[in-house]
Order: sequence, then C-alpha cells, then structure tokens
Amino acid sequence: MIPERVAAAIRAGRRPVCAYVYDPDIATRRIADLRAALPAGTRVLYAVKANSNPDLVRAIATHADGLEVASGGELDLALAAGAQTIAFAGPAKTDDELRAAVAADAMIHVESAHELRRLTHLARGHHPRTALRVNRAADTPSGSHRMTGTPTPFGIAEDDLDTLPRDLPISGFHLHAVSNNLDAAAHARFVDDAVAWSLTTARRLGITLTYVNAGGGLGIDYTGDTTFDLNRLRITPPPAGVTLTVEPGRWIAADTGWYAAEVIDLKRNHGRWFAVLRGGTHHFRLPAAWGYSHPFTVLPVDDWPHPYARPEVSNVDVDATGELCTPRDVLTRAQHVDRLRVGDVLVYARTGAYGWDISHHDFLRHPYPEVTVLPPVS
Ligand SMILES: *Cc1c(COP(=O)(O)O)cnc(C)c1O
Repeated sequence: MIPERVAAAIRAGRRPVCAYVYDPDIATRRIADLRAALPAGTRVLYAVKANSNPDLVRAIATHADGLEVASGGELDLALAAGAQTIAFAGPAKTDDELRAAVAADAMIHVESAHELRRLTHLARGHHPRTALRVNRAADTPSGSHRMTGTPTPFGIAEDDLDTLPRDLPISGFHLHAVSNNLDAAAHARFVDDAVAWSLTTARRLGITLTYVNAGGGLGIDYTGDTTFDLNRLRITPPPAGVTLTVEPGRWIAADTGWYAAEVIDLKRNHGRWFAVLRGGTHHFRLPAAWGYSHPFTVLPVDDWPHPYARPEVSNVDVDATGELCTPRDVLTRAQHVDRLRVGDVLVYARTGAYGWDISHHDFLRHPYPEVTVLPPVS
C-alpha cells in the first residue's frame, strides 16, 4: 500500500522516475508512541546516521529530546537542526571533533582510555558532559549486528573500567549493544539489565550515576509482518536521580521513506524475468548489504507516449535489478507480479533508514534520485 500523498509526489516527479519520498510525520508519530511506552522521564534521541536528510532531521529535532551523532559532520547537522540535546559516540573521534563536541555541550560517549585522556587534555577549562561507552562482557539480545559482548572496536572493555584515568566527572554509561532487534520483551530485559549493571558498576567505581543510555536497536522486519511490539516493551522505571536515554535510528526513520524507480526494461534471461530499473543499490544498498530481497509495490503508470509496443509481463516472478554493471545490483528476487509494464514504477516502502545514507552514490555516475520531503499534514 502506497499512501496517496506519496504516490502523488512520485507521479509529480521527473520521468524516468527515480525518487525518494520522506514523510517526517511518520517519524514524529513513532517518537510520540515510543515515549508513551517508556517510563516517564525517559529521553528519546534520534540516531542521525539512519537518515541524515537535513529537512527530515530538522522535523524530527522538534519532536525528539535530542539527536545522537557519530561524526563532526553529523554534529554540525544537529546544531543546524536546532537539537535540544546532542549525544556524540564514535570509536575514532578526532581532536577537532572532541573540541566541537565540548563547545556544543554535547554528551560525549567516551570509547577508550586514550580518548578519555585526550578529552581531559582538550577540555581544560571546560566542563564536558561525559559518559563511558562500555563493551560489556555479557551477551546481548538477538539482532542483526552485535556491538558488545563480542570483540568489536566499540566502547571500553568492562575489565578496563577500574583502571581508567578519573580526572573528568563521569555521569554514567552508554550501552548501545544491538541492531534490528524485533523482540520487544527481550529488548526491555536488555534495558533493565543495562540499568541494573550501571547502578552496580557506578557504585563500585565511585561514580554518582545520573545517566544511562541504552542505545538504539529497535527492529524493522523488511520481508515480513513482524513489528517491534511496544506493548511488550515493559521497562522498569530507573531509580530517582537516574535518567534513562534511548536513541533509535532505524525504527524511527525506516517507515518514513519510499524509494521509487521506473522500469526501463523487461527481459528474460536463462529462464528468469528481470525488471531493470532507473535506480538500484547505489541508492538503496540495504538489501545487497544484508543479502535479502526487499519487496516492492507496483505503481501503474498508464500513459505510454511512444509509437512502438509497450513491453509487458503478467503472472510471473521477476527479479528487480538496477542500472549498475554488476550482477549484485539486485533489490528484489523472484517477486510475483500480476502485471508489470515498462514505464511502471516500483515503489519500495521502509527505505527511510540506512537507505540513501549507506549507499555508494557515485558508482557509475548516474544522476541522483529526486528527494521530496512531504510537509506536515496538520
Ligand atoms: C547506529 C547507532 C544507533 C542507532 O541504531 P539503530 O539500530 O538504528 O536503532 C544508536 N546509537 C549508536 C551509538 C549507534 O552507533
């Protein structure tokens, strides 16, 4: 199902159609729903790396409690978007980035003993807000990527916490550990455990705990109907004085985006039907990166201005492939179509997170998609 105003924006675009349409209202509704499901006082940040379109980020910034950034570029974007608060993580922060984060009064998630020493030195005369990003020894709930409980470059090893330099005041811990977790009950257990661990560890280290950031990681099912069920996200309120923060990216942004690409050719090779698109994985790399088939909806375009026959298939399975010269440029494998014609448009929902932002835009130098950010409805 393509919402009417999304279809209208796609139809209004240049031909051949190649476009992203973003609806920020969907992100702001997600934020309101999540906040309502979380313990009172929990702060909901948006992880900018999921989709850094400036208009979308600005719209989200007015509803979220802040933005989570992972680079100096994202920090600049968050400042320009008017973020209420900014949190800054990232395993390779440069001195310039740390200085900019201090100047922006961002909460800095410190990722190593060396980074803590550098920050102490760079921040002389300032009072940076800091929390320790920790790679806990314990295992994390299931998801597509694991950041902790396993060897990664993210955060400080739990074993090293006792020997850290302690020149800067530390307000708590950042424990982002997982991506694309669809099990809300398991996620609630993870957050509860993060708070309990933070209380115990802060006591041991002599830290006055005020801040626990449980990261993002709420999941989206790209190929099925599973949803991250907020009714099962029953998180225990943290004790007085401790503020819980979460910072999802994917779950807030995925459903805000539609990627639309016109069928340029239809052909059969070695027994398979191919719909070849004006577009592809250089605009939406996620299915290629993760190795799954992203479903599409056909947006029929009836007008056919040419004097020659319009190619058409019906009742077949097609692979939807892009305009790149590589057999890996595949968005969809073997999806059934009742009818598909050259000139129709394939519309990919759930492309608002880790779509354009993670893709290799300049490979083959095709023109970029048109981008439309829809205005708020109310
Ligand atoms: C990527 C990231 C997020 C957001 O993760 P999602 O899976 O998109 O929710 C949050 N925090 C940190 C530190 C990240 O790196």
